[in-house]
Amino acid sequence: MDSEINRAAAICENCGTAHSVRIGPDGEIRPIGTGRGTECTCGDGEFRILSDDSNLTGGGNSKSKSDT
Ligand SMILES: [Zn+2]
Repeated sequence: MDSEINRAAAICENCGTAHSVRIGPDGEIRPIGTGRGTECTCGDGEFRILSDDSNLTGGGNSKSKSDT
């Protein structure tokens, strides 16, 4: 289960557009449905995470409770 994908809401700091994003296991933020890979539709996105849909928030190395 190391390929867990977290979903979150993020906002582009360049254009201010809100996106639903997926956060990969390596912390990579990928907006959903833009067709632009890891970029915002404005082409210059720095995403800021607003909130998470799941409990698994990533600092990457942080241990969270898993109830498997
Ligand atoms: Zn943007």
